[in-house]
Amino acid sequence: KTVVDLKVGLITKSTGLWYEVEDTETHQTFKGRLRGKLKLKGMKVTNPIAVGDLVDYALEDEVENTVIIHDIRDRKNIILRQSTRKKWHGHIIASNIDQAILIATLALPKTSLGFIDRFLVAAESYNIPTYIVFNKDDLLEDEDRAYLDELRAIYEPLGYKCLRLSALEDENLDGIKEVINGKKSLLVGHSGVGKSTLLNKLASNVQQRTDEISLFANKGKHTTTFAEMFELTEHNGHLIDTPGIKELGIMGIDENEIGHFFPEIRDVIQECKYNNCTHTHEPQCKVRELVDEGTIAISRYLSYLSMLEGDDNRK
Ligand code: GDP
Ligand code: ZN
Repeated sequence: KTVVDLKVGLITKSTGLWYEVEDTETHQTFKGRLRGKLKLKGMKVTNPIAVGDLVDYALEDEVENTVIIHDIRDRKNIILRQSTRKKWHGHIIASNIDQAILIATLALPKTSLGFIDRFLVAAESYNIPTYIVFNKDDLLEDEDRAYLDELRAIYEPLGYKCLRLSALEDENLDGIKEVINGKKSLLVGHSGVGKSTLLNKLASNVQQRTDEISLFANKGKHTTTFAEMFELTEHNGHLIDTPGIKELGIMGIDENEIGHFFPEIRDVIQECKYNNCTHTHEPQCKVRELVDEGTIAISRYLSYLSMLEGDDNRK
């Protein structure tokens, strides 16, 4: 048998057909494909390899810069999206991430609190710290700023730092840079909130992709849905962009577990009379008591109820 010389690479792009592999030592990039036999155990996912994965690869063709991916290293975590084609299958958006940067906007487009809360639950379930970045600060009126302060008062005590940003006007870019320095960060948010604009300010080699996407947008098509990883220009670390992501799957979370991924519910769950309390109708429910007295934000409780009813699966 021939012995293959395996090296370690980071997946920086995945189109489903081929993968961009960046050597972890030399940073040289290659076009990779999977060794035929590579199959993953136990997971129902539509893509075996995702952005952020560490893989063992071997050079295939030195002229064409192609490599064969032989194996995948154990993952620290993954972020899943529910597959649209097969109901119970997931699509891995990214893996091995240190933190998530959730970009939200109060207008144009308006990010719903339901979207924010569903993402936070997904992130909690994978133990991924999340920052909420409110972009387009330059568009805000005084009353919007007051609303922003209310949101901050809801989310910061739960452990989700909030930042204001104008990616377009370069306001508070330094604040973001500090947060992403040295980390692998997942960038999420609805289309139109300013992710590409921010990426262009922070990472190199983004221009081409943005142009590609604008080209698609002009033809009235949806943007691409694969994730891509960008190296930060001024700092250590990577940003993972997820164009076109609308819903994140909260697969694998049982109904009776959802409360554990709301920190304010998790904290008081022991104080409910029944230990299997769903916090919907049970007597002496601490959660509902705190909602009634305003300690738990009503918007968060409504998000909890909506997730309990499985609204996430129907969209
Ligand atoms: P993406 O879909 O999340 O990548 O959003 P884009 O970066 O393509 O931005 C969508 C639109 O919002 C573009 O017209 C941007 O110029 C605009 N935009 C992005 N950031 C800001 C901002 O901070 N302020 C304002 N006023 N517009 C912004
Ligand atoms: Zn309860």
